[in-house]
Amino acid sequence: MNNLDSEQGLEVPSLSAEIPASREGVSSEFDVDLFVIGGGSGGIRAARVAASHGARVMLAEESRLGGTCVIRGCVPKKLFVHASRFGDALDEAADFGWKISLPRFDWPSLVAAKDREIARLEGLYAQGQSKSGVEVVHSRATLEDAHMVRLADGRSVRAGIILIATGAKPELLPFEGMELGITSDEAFDLKEFPRRVVVGGAGYIAMEFAGLFEALGSDVTVVCRGSNVLRGFDEDVRQAITASYTNRGIKVLLGDSIKRMAPGKAGGDGEKPATIDVVTEQGARLNADQVLMAFGRAPNTIGLGLDRAGVKTDEKGAIIVGASSRTSVPNIFAVGDVSNQFKLTPVAIREGHAFADSVFGGKPWRVDYANVPTAVFTTPEIGTVGLTELEARSQYAVVDVYKARVRPLAAGVTGDCEIALLKLVVDGESDRILGVHLFAEDASEMIQVLSIALESGATRADFMSTMPVHPTFSEELLAMNTPTVRYDRR
Ligand code: FAD
Ligand code: NDP
Repeated sequence: MNNLDSEQGLEVPSLSAEIPASREGVSSEFDVDLFVIGGGSGGIRAARVAASHGARVMLAEESRLGGTCVIRGCVPKKLFVHASRFGDALDEAADFGWKISLPRFDWPSLVAAKDREIARLEGLYAQGQSKSGVEVVHSRATLEDAHMVRLADGRSVRAGIILIATGAKPELLPFEGMELGITSDEAFDLKEFPRRVVVGGAGYIAMEFAGLFEALGSDVTVVCRGSNVLRGFDEDVRQAITASYTNRGIKVLLGDSIKRMAPGKAGGDGEKPATIDVVTEQGARLNADQVLMAFGRAPNTIGLGLDRAGVKTDEKGAIIVGASSRTSVPNIFAVGDVSNQFKLTPVAIREGHAFADSVFGGKPWRVDYANVPTAVFTTPEIGTVGLTELEARSQYAVVDVYKARVRPLAAGVTGDCEIALLKLVVDGESDRILGVHLFAEDASEMIQVLSIALESGATRADFMSTMPVHPTFSEELLAMNTPTVRYDRR
């Protein structure tokens, strides 16, 4: 995390003396009170809330309103994941008495359905901005100085406050043949369904796309440079997803990375020729119709004019902000992925909201970054909140770990061998829950609710005193009587 939090006193969320107060005397000096660069999750929320507080707001979006999450991120991804789960469901249906004849998946129909839904959402965002009184300009915007924004058509706008919410874009690595690969941006709009997919990287995007492509019928190989996928997640969860993927037939190459790619020759299976040959550092040779490069996301700050305005960035180009999203220039703020705090939609939205309330609404508040819950939309899903086992052991003297491995009820009928994992990490001295880690169907939904308990300081005794709902996965969280393991450093 990069921020200026250590500089106590910097983050007073009100306008400093050199910044005009949002509603006083601004009109004579500035064209708008707030200029928002970027119409994604953070920018849209900030613009709407600031306008509701009476600010005159202009927002520039160079692509489509809605940003990464709506246009090429969370929303289309979740639709694709949803689509991918019908295959298993149809297989299972037969075990439950359904007679289904030859279902066939049609990729272009899925892409078209996704496009319709995204266009609908984009329209709703445009309506929302317009109803709030935000003036949206469909243009790239850059900074001329600390108050002047330049639009692509040459117009310039003077703003009292500027919010940078330009998000991030896929990180590209300079290996030979890299231009043959695609990123998640292109994966949503492929003309043809890729029968063979190589995925470079093993983070959120890699694991989500590997799972959904495999479930839709692709032959998938994940190339992971680390000792296991999803670095930063709890070790048990990492092992569970890797075992599950391997069991499904996804090949996971650990301790390896893509070395080079070249246009492919004819494939060996007599089917459509492979289009890309991939060679890995460990010498694996793979053929693929598509190579998805999911190596992280870089903040969108290049060419933004930050240097002209004096806005400081870190070594990765991310804008350095304090707890109130203020940058090194007092009247310029940054929220969301561009500031490199957490790259998650709800975080960008909260930051945008807190910024607008604090600067324009006279209601200062800050985003609480403790216990940010997160989900990876693999199948089954991963849900996690709080400390991993390893983090807890490094911070607490006594750590109790409770683990349950559960076979879904329906598996008794289908014979499916998928095992769900539920794990609680507990402070052995106070009994407080420090972390919850799930690998289970609907883990994203469970972790949302469990994060409320965690944030409220729930203890394991609180869990145990709650009446379970039966038959569910989550009731197992209330049934773990003794720790699977206790670590005691006292
Ligand atoms: P963005 O939403 O990226 O918005 C920035 C906007 O600024 C863009 O529309 C861009 O066109 C515009 N812009 C950039 N430069 C300029 C300029 N100079 N002038 C004008 N406009 C400009 N997060 C989750 O919480 N859950 C998920 O399930 C999830 N899934 C994801 C799946 C994928 C494939 C990806 C890529 C991301 C996913 N994320 C998910 C992350 C989430 O999308 C981002 O954290 C979130 O969109 C960040 O919001 P933002 O406002 O910071 O930036
Ligand atoms: P991640 O940071 O999650 O993963 C990046 C992956 O690329 C890691 O496996 C990383 O390995 C690997 N990598 C990085 N550099 C190299 C390299 N030089 N050579 C080989 N491998 C490399 O990024 P993503 O692109 O998957 O996603 C970006 C962000 O978007 C996520 O961090 C998340 O915040 C957000 N997102 C959220 C989702 C959700 O909430 N469900 C879904 C999708 C995205 P290593 O671990 O060893 O560094």
